[in-house]
Amino acid sequence: MPSALITGITGQTGGYLCEQLITAGWEVHGLVRDRDETEPAFRERSPLAELHSGDLASAESVRTVVDAVEPDAIFNLGGLSSVAESWKKPELTGLITGLGVASLLDAAWNLRERSGRRVSFVQASSAEIFGYATEVPQTEETAVNPANPYGAAKAYAHHLVGVYRRIGLEASSCILYNHESPRRPEAFVTRKITAGVARIALGLEKTLVLGNLDARRDWGWAPDYAAALALAATGTPGDYIVATGQAHTVRDFVIAAFAAAGISDWESYIEQDPRFMRPQDAPALVGDPSKARDVLGWQPSVEFDEIVARMVAHDTAILGD
Ligand code: GDP
Repeated sequence: MPSALITGITGQTGGYLCEQLITAGWEVHGLVRDRDETEPAFRERSPLAELHSGDLASAESVRTVVDAVEPDAIFNLGGLSSVAESWKKPELTGLITGLGVASLLDAAWNLRERSGRRVSFVQASSAEIFGYATEVPQTEETAVNPANPYGAAKAYAHHLVGVYRRIGLEASSCILYNHESPRRPEAFVTRKITAGVARIALGLEKTLVLGNLDARRDWGWAPDYAAALALAATGTPGDYIVATGQAHTVRDFVIAAFAAAGISDWESYIEQDPRFMRPQDAPALVGDPSKARDVLGWQPSVEFDEIVARMVAHDTAILGD
């Protein structure tokens, strides 16, 4: 039975990856900051995952866990996941989202040298490494040009994965575009919209307050993105754009969410507030996933309208319970 160590296992995509690997017969371990404080929701969904206490900010603790588990594959989804938060905590973002990857790669490389077997490393990289993108859509060759501390930390990590790949580690960097699901926290605009629309549809609220409605994102279905990470672990090591190739504005998302709830006069419910505007908003992040399709055999399985509809249905259902 192959074994995996996942950082960020309790997050949205880490949770889906954990479930998919267990279903596929893997033994799954997770690195969490405090094993005893892990959310009951995660435990209920993945009772078979074995959790280990450790911190990406401590190279020593990362090494100890990797040496104890001796995984066949390491998936790094850990780190601060929000662009907005990275402006408030730039050093912590650099330490955990950037330098934490150095600890993991070093531990993976040492394990590979010691055991003589393949130790796959899969980095959950981010479209934010392209920041002020020099071309649309972006490919694996597009210039790395981050626009915020989160993107800069991910850019360092992305380059370091390439460095270890060039010395022989089976290391891949999956450049994930925005990926959503009912498990997305409301700090992200998609879930904020679907939860807000559900409350409006049920008469619990009258307005939804948002920032920039013109921002464009390439939104996919999070379980599909977890599947891409799993494919990268057993496939040819490389950089892979994981995206749908379709961009939509925040306004498109809002319209689709209200439509899914049966509301057509969406404009009367929207307010805009500068508090939710970003100082530097990445303008047009859209990925070309051709390489992931051709080399890994990956493709997205859920369309934009269906993603929105599933999230609205979920949020309406939990409020109705
Ligand atoms: P990100 O792409 O990882 O930053 O994901 P988010 O879901 O947080 O933001 C996606 C886009 O939505 C960004 O361009 C934001 O500027 C825009 N946006 C507009 N209104 C809001 C809002 O109220 N909250 C958030 N989080 N983003 C908003």
